[in-house]
Amino acid sequence: MAHLFYNFLFIWHLLLMPCFSLRLPNNAVELSRIKHRSKRYDDSISFLAVGDWGRNGNFNQSIVATQMGYVGKKLGIDFVVSTGDNFYDDGLKGEDDRAFKTSFSNIYTAKSLRKPWFSVLGNHDYQGNVEAQLSPALKKRDKRWNCKRNFILEAGSADIFFVDTTPFVQKYFDNPKKQVFDWRNVLPRDRYMSSTLKNMNVSLEHSKAPWKIVVGHHTIRSIGYHGDTQEMIDHFLPILEAHKVDMYINGHDHCLQHLSNERGSMQFLTSGGGSKAWKNKIHYGLHNDSSMHFYHDGQGFLSVEIARDKAKLEFYDVSGRTIHRFKLEK
Ligand SMILES: [Zn+2]
Repeated sequence: MAHLFYNFLFIWHLLLMPCFSLRLPNNAVELSRIKHRSKRYDDSISFLAVGDWGRNGNFNQSIVATQMGYVGKKLGIDFVVSTGDNFYDDGLKGEDDRAFKTSFSNIYTAKSLRKPWFSVLGNHDYQGNVEAQLSPALKKRDKRWNCKRNFILEAGSADIFFVDTTPFVQKYFDNPKKQVFDWRNVLPRDRYMSSTLKNMNVSLEHSKAPWKIVVGHHTIRSIGYHGDTQEMIDHFLPILEAHKVDMYINGHDHCLQHLSNERGSMQFLTSGGGSKAWKNKIHYGLHNDSSMHFYHDGQGFLSVEIARDKAKLEFYDVSGRTIHRFKLEK
């Protein structure tokens, strides 16, 4: 019955979708904004993206962190983006959880990484006390920490839209197994999903930035262990395509990968190699065409450099070696 209801919601959502770009719904509000001023005369910015990391330094988390420090210094990065699953296995227990220190503050210690961190939540974060991870109290423990459910980062030539994807995934509600999710401030789910999509849509509509980037935890397109996320394809992909989003950056699959959208010019970038990786389960058949550019079944991270009319992206493995790079132009 629940399936029928959500199918109905989905069809209704698709029917409404073409109208959104022409006439915005009355009750949509823009996402909250954080401004990060470019320190360069040409409005360019650079940042690192890492995901699926918080394991007390284990599973090579510390080694990846060291390499992020070197690359961060070389590029003079403005900030770090976290693609979620910040604290394993079950998020944070509370605002005073030691894991915040042992998996974050004590690990990313390089001077170049002492910049703001902007983070989304992942499914593992939802298995702890989500409100604690979102609490401003964490900023008192480490001023770098910025984690909200849905927000926009205005940064130089880019608007970066951070979106909370976990509540969209049906199986966490239908078949949570032994996992307990903290759905406070999410339920009723249908209302949360529809307001998130509407607000995302209106915010993208109003964006004047040359580059539009969306960050979420779950994959849209992936040949990794989890593969594509149908709910992301159904709900988010049409909005991202309609507003000509340039990049979607995610974690969830513990690997690094680069695919292009079959329609339009959006790039799908997975940066989920912050610690435990080497799953060795790859769905090669899912996207074995010209849209698949790069896959690395291992740890690492991504750097993004963006100027007004060009962008340079680079993936690094656990030893800091560049294993894939490409450029985009406007
Ligand atoms: Zn995940």
